[in-house]
Amino acid sequence: MGYNKKTYALGSKRSVIREIFEYSKTRAAEIGAENVYDFSLGNPSVPAPAEVNDAIRELLDTQSSVLLHGYTSAQGDAGVRRAISDSIKSRFGIENITPNHIYMTCGAAASLSICLKAVIEEGEGDECIAFAPFFTEYRVFVENAGAKLVISQPKAKSFQIDMADFESRITPRTKAVIVNSPNNPSGVVYTEQTIISLCDILRKKSEEYGHVIYLIADEPYRELVYSGVTVPYLMSYYKNTLVCYSYSKSLSLPGERIGYIAVCPDMDGCEDIYLSVCGAGRALGYVCAPSLFQQVIARCIDAKVNIEIYKENRDLLYDSLTSYGYECVKPDGAFYLFVKALEDDAYRFCERAKAHEILVVPCDDFGVSGYVRIAYCTDKQRVLSALPAFKALAEEYKI
Ligand code: PLP
Repeated sequence: MGYNKKTYALGSKRSVIREIFEYSKTRAAEIGAENVYDFSLGNPSVPAPAEVNDAIRELLDTQSSVLLHGYTSAQGDAGVRRAISDSIKSRFGIENITPNHIYMTCGAAASLSICLKAVIEEGEGDECIAFAPFFTEYRVFVENAGAKLVISQPKAKSFQIDMADFESRITPRTKAVIVNSPNNPSGVVYTEQTIISLCDILRKKSEEYGHVIYLIADEPYRELVYSGVTVPYLMSYYKNTLVCYSYSKSLSLPGERIGYIAVCPDMDGCEDIYLSVCGAGRALGYVCAPSLFQQVIARCIDAKVNIEIYKENRDLLYDSLTSYGYECVKPDGAFYLFVKALEDDAYRFCERAKAHEILVVPCDDFGVSGYVRIAYCTDKQRVLSALPAFKALAEEYKI
């Protein structure tokens, strides 16, 4: 039959997260949503900041239809790109960044797909390294761009990058490395020392193999960090960096599909790479990101969601679960708790959790087996109601 078997396979096999989410809806209809402890999906529960809704109203009341709903330049509105490059300059000290280094996109998924397509040469055997645990869609994006995904295993327990493992995965075919910090699903923020060591290895290997290895910084969770932890800005450590940013989590706007790519101005062949980004956006059909939300972003460049709500959930879950005997990394960022399953098979553990109406995600597809992810971007009340169920589940394993 004449259709694409690869895309058929992607479309016909639902992700494990979606599978659980669908089950959650069915179960909620049976026993009431308040009795289902669904921690499966990374959908922000904290509302978008008031500035966002104010900006939308103000824009609708004062601006022309063409500005609000018309096409922008393929790479995004010049004024919006200036607002973003000015913000990167003042926040991270990247003095020479300009609007011509920014490409507006439909969120981090589009940013990643574009960056990978822009640097990977299809048919050349390129490889792209990601660090476990990793966002499952990387495999889809990397393979779609024509490269092989290579996984580097983390340090046990801390889930920081294991430099020896990382170095051993780099080959003459390595074209790009994806870094996601704060991390989905572990919530770990890579330390500055980790980033320095990683960039030293990248420089050494680029020189050894005589070609650039690109660093792709996937940063939708950059603003979601707790207790004053800072997230190193990768361009400041490694010039061949492309930043994939998104407002999905930082402003709680995942349905609006808005974000950007920033190409480091000091990158080797920066202008050509930017053109390649533009070409990849064109080839993938990701031109002219949503116009209204480009304008909203320009007006809300410094707005932030109230992350205290996530922090409360994090503390409550971490303190309670560890007191019940669960083992987990204390997350410094994002809104996920990465918990060791109480048996080797995380799928079986999730099934037993389901009997207590707890819905969590097994992390085998994230590249680490024996762990589950709890997405705590939810009501505090749901966390409180779920605690006795988590306790009962732990006690079941002690018998
Ligand atoms: N990267 C990571 C690590 C994510 O967790 C997500 C979404 O959950 C994305 C990228 C995609 O984000 P967006 O909604 O901006 O496309």
